[in-house]
Amino acid sequence: MTPRLRFAPSPTGALHIGGVRTALYNYLFARKHNGVFLLRIEDTDQGRYVPGAEDYIIESLKWAGIVPDEGVGFGGNEGPYRQSDRKEIYHKFAHELVERGHAYYAFDTPDELEQRRQAEDNFTCNHLTRGTLTNSLTLGMDDARSWIEEGRPYVVRLKVEPGREIKINDLVRGEVTFQSGELDDKVLLKADGMPTYHLANVVDDHLMRITHVIRGEEWLPSTAHHVLLYEGFGWSDTMPVFSHLPLILKPVGSGKLSKRDGAKFGMPVFPLSWKGETSEDSFEGFREAGFLPEAMINFLALLGWHPGGDRELFTLDELISEFSIEHIGKSGARFDFEKAKWFNQKYIQSLPTDVLASLILPHAEKKGYNTDMAYLGQVASLMRERVTFIPDFVEAGYYFFEPVKSYDQETIAKKWNENLIPFFNNLTEFFSNFEPFEASQLEEQVKGLIQTAGYKPGDILPLLRIAFVGTMKGPAVFDTVVALGREESAARIRRFLEHISS
Ligand code: GLU
Repeated sequence: MTPRLRFAPSPTGALHIGGVRTALYNYLFARKHNGVFLLRIEDTDQGRYVPGAEDYIIESLKWAGIVPDEGVGFGGNEGPYRQSDRKEIYHKFAHELVERGHAYYAFDTPDELEQRRQAEDNFTCNHLTRGTLTNSLTLGMDDARSWIEEGRPYVVRLKVEPGREIKINDLVRGEVTFQSGELDDKVLLKADGMPTYHLANVVDDHLMRITHVIRGEEWLPSTAHHVLLYEGFGWSDTMPVFSHLPLILKPVGSGKLSKRDGAKFGMPVFPLSWKGETSEDSFEGFREAGFLPEAMINFLALLGWHPGGDRELFTLDELISEFSIEHIGKSGARFDFEKAKWFNQKYIQSLPTDVLASLILPHAEKKGYNTDMAYLGQVASLMRERVTFIPDFVEAGYYFFEPVKSYDQETIAKKWNENLIPFFNNLTEFFSNFEPFEASQLEEQVKGLIQTAGYKPGDILPLLRIAFVGTMKGPAVFDTVVALGREESAARIRRFLEHISS
């Protein structure tokens, strides 16, 4: 049987990075087993619907390279894949479950339920209380039907029978047991005619022939209700296999990673930037922070899963062939942002120069810098070992695009003296004409000049570096000069002399 997996986010805002990990694991499993990965949008909670969130989810998956085979925005024959377009379907199944005796119509108004909650500690609608409420069990089905015909608002609730053990064989957690007597009679269909998550999720997983459900651990308690729904509908034989993923923890190692942690720890916790209505609801994304999607994916894949051994770098194809649910851990995985940065460095170092150049291009454009691709390629190969993020090429490496903005005064104080002026003037002349245009020969010539003038390389080279780039950090100085060109390097020595005498 072809495995069919789904990612089923609710469009309630930006997609949290934990959601991207869930999508990734579903995708990896589907690809590994030649299955299908689909995107279903679970938008039945109209109160929490946020415009733009659906597009955000689709764009995030595309950017990350986790592209669904079917789903909203991706076509497919099992749709519609947006739950708000499937209202009729849920209606039919909710009533069917009442017919089958596993659900009932309930007429208690929100006010009435609230009064009960006020009056009784821990009041909930369950097998103990439903006999005291107004529903098709206490009224009788005929009366309930005529109430519905009269237009009285009603909900459909799952009828949970006590006295049973509900066992779930979770592929990550092992056997998990729930006591049915402790479960409440969940609402399945709301008074506005919309299904709740539980009904829509189970009906759709069944109709879309989902074989494996991989989702966050916060959904584990709901699974008990889901099992009862599968049973109630007579679908137990084709119930999907469940895997509940461990939490992603804060960088400090305890507590669930939250969207607020992004601002708190100065790191992205969303794949793409998101502009909400307030600044508190606006977040920077991995993409905008300068991450390569491959690096983010590699980082996320290892948050809770590892195939064993020491290996850490995996391309998406390698992840697909290595992935297995047995190697998903039970305990929470710490969101170690330093590790994410390390992955990004590794991926930047491994990219071909022309690919890097095209990634630098938009950042150079934004700053009004030189956008010649050959030049960006040169900058890429000189800087790639020294950057963490793509924008670093034009930020840390700004001096490839504009004059030095600040000079390292410490080095100047240590090395400079007025007597060097004539020698530096000569160097200006030399740099405007040097031949051949090649770093190692240039280096040899300059070292020769230094020696002839009676200095040591350590007296002059640091100052030259400061003149060209302002800092002791950065790529080899003569490679930098070759990138800058004769005229610009000569001009930089002149500017340095002006700076020093001002
Ligand atoms: N709509 C749920 C969510 O937002 C889906 C949970 C599930 O995968 O069953 O995560």
